[in-house]
Amino acid sequence: MKTDVVVIGGGVAGSASAFFLALQGLRVVVLDKTRFPRDKVCTSTVNPYAMTYLLKMGVMTELLKDGLLPITGMQGYSYEGSAYRGYYEPHYPFVNYGHTVPRYRLDSAFSNRVKQLSQVTLLEDWAVEEILYHGSRAVGVRGQHGGRPAEIKADFVIDAAGRGSIVARQKGLFEPMTDHVRYAVVCQFEGVEPPDPLFTIGTDDTIGPGYFCVFPVTDSIAIVGFIVDSALYERVKSDPSGWVDAYVRRESWVGREWLSPARRTTEVVTFGPLAFTTKTIAHNGILMVGDTTGFFDPLTGEGIGMAIRSGELAAETVAKLLNGGADWEREHARYEQTFLTEKAESLEQSRQMHRMLKRPAAYNRFVEALSRNQEAANWAARSFANMLPPGERVSGRLFELVTSKQ
Ligand SMILES: Cc1cc2nc3c(=O)[nH]c(=O)nc-3n(C[C@H](O)[C@H](O)[C@H](O)COP(=O)(O)OP(=O)(O)OC[C@H]3O[C@@H](n4cnc5c(N)ncnc54)[C@H](O)[C@@H]3O)c2cc1C
Repeated sequence: MKTDVVVIGGGVAGSASAFFLALQGLRVVVLDKTRFPRDKVCTSTVNPYAMTYLLKMGVMTELLKDGLLPITGMQGYSYEGSAYRGYYEPHYPFVNYGHTVPRYRLDSAFSNRVKQLSQVTLLEDWAVEEILYHGSRAVGVRGQHGGRPAEIKADFVIDAAGRGSIVARQKGLFEPMTDHVRYAVVCQFEGVEPPDPLFTIGTDDTIGPGYFCVFPVTDSIAIVGFIVDSALYERVKSDPSGWVDAYVRRESWVGREWLSPARRTTEVVTFGPLAFTTKTIAHNGILMVGDTTGFFDPLTGEGIGMAIRSGELAAETVAKLLNGGADWEREHARYEQTFLTEKAESLEQSRQMHRMLKRPAAYNRFVEALSRNQEAANWAARSFANMLPPGERVSGRLFELVTSKQ
């Protein structure tokens, strides 16, 4: 079989790549080792940046019947239990709401959307084991389709396999981030009474410098997650369900009332260490997209949006190269630089927040300041949701706002 582009992985990044490649008129084969719907450990917020893409791409059409609660902002709790609420004010070109979409629903909506496109073929149960090269350039993949040896030739390869990337493993591209070791502990509750349709994040003396999140899916279902450090993970890992059930019933926990009428409806899953970097994301006729480009922490909730954006940029780059005339090395470098520059802002903002989480007094002051300054709280919500123009998120504007008088 021969195609223009083969995409390894049909998650958000792979589906988005296929969608944008098809818009460029290219024929695409997407391979995934699993079958959809499949689940994935994720707290599943789709922020306004990502939601804007979902609407434009037609992915939301399938999800409209799920009764998803529109989420209009975020609230953050300090170590002391004080809170700020920031709202996604209209900020063109973005919609001013998001959703929490469980990943087995989101990823299958993405894959169903690309299946509708005549230029895209999605092959499930197709595990890529090897990249085929001609000289130094990738020209296809080999692996197992339904347990049988299979091969696909292509003019270009996009690696959207996330942490499972064969390319990264074979070339030794992933490096664990030893200065930020965090683990995820995630489950779903039903019968929840969230106070407001907001993405809620907070911390306290038990989980700091980690944090909890309660993200409403519908008006009674919520995804509840904890991102914890190694010390706490050591205590949680032997019985995560027991730990979560005890934690959410603690008298002192700010979310106790929201969950007290609720019951946990899924196993508690744990996952980690979360953070790693990727040495290069563009080489030899392969562009890496989504989580293959590296991952820090879900705190600022942008993995899905960035996965889509990388697919969009990769498709533009591939189209330019396959239409002829463009210099391969220059375009590879341009893709790498453009995407990593955009991603660096979310990484830096997340790092800033983590630095504060490690210093409870500073974090408490930050939350306190936002709680007294609505403009700053709204700015923070928009900033976390990636709704600000390039450069503004790490511009120090938030600092100016929190230190200014209301
Ligand atoms: C705990 C946690 C919480 C998070 N919370 C949020 C959040 O609230 N909001 C947000 O925006 N982001 C969040 N993220 C980030 C988000 O989940 C990822 O950034 C996003 O899913 C990346 O998508 P992807 O398509 O790159 O990778 P994946 O979703 O991992 O998809 C990779 C696909 O490749 C396939 N694959 C792998 N290897 C092969 C192979 N050899 N052959 C064929 N197929 C293969 C897999 O089956 C899979 O379908 C969170 C991440 C974690 C870990």
